[in-house]
Amino acid sequence: MHELSVTRSVLEIALAHAQRVGANRIQRINLVVGDLSGIVGESVQFYFDFVSRGTPAEGAELSFRHIPAQFRCHSCGAVYEPEGSDWSCPLCGEMEPEPVGGRELLVESIEVEK
Ligand SMILES: [Zn+2]
Repeated sequence: MHELSVTRSVLEIALAHAQRVGANRIQRINLVVGDLSGIVGESVQFYFDFVSRGTPAEGAELSFRHIPAQFRCHSCGAVYEPEGSDWSCPLCGEMEPEPVGGRELLVESIEVEK
């Protein structure tokens, strides 16, 4: 239930922000999701509808901006964005690159109603 705990922390961040700015209602939460995060937008929205019930974030819409995976090659040091499911290094063919980007799940901004 990785997504449920992720969704809870998104809700906590959003509620803390709403409280700080004195908002009564959260309308939209803009998220940045890395392609390697394993997060599926639809299921986060599903969980969010559930965990936000009775809070100022109830009914808020989640919007997802995807950022691509990025790898660094152990052998030649190249940093690249893989194409499709081929993650090998385009320069030297190394098969086990190190992921350096694309695991993020961040709250980018929140739209509220006062
Ligand atoms: Zn390489």
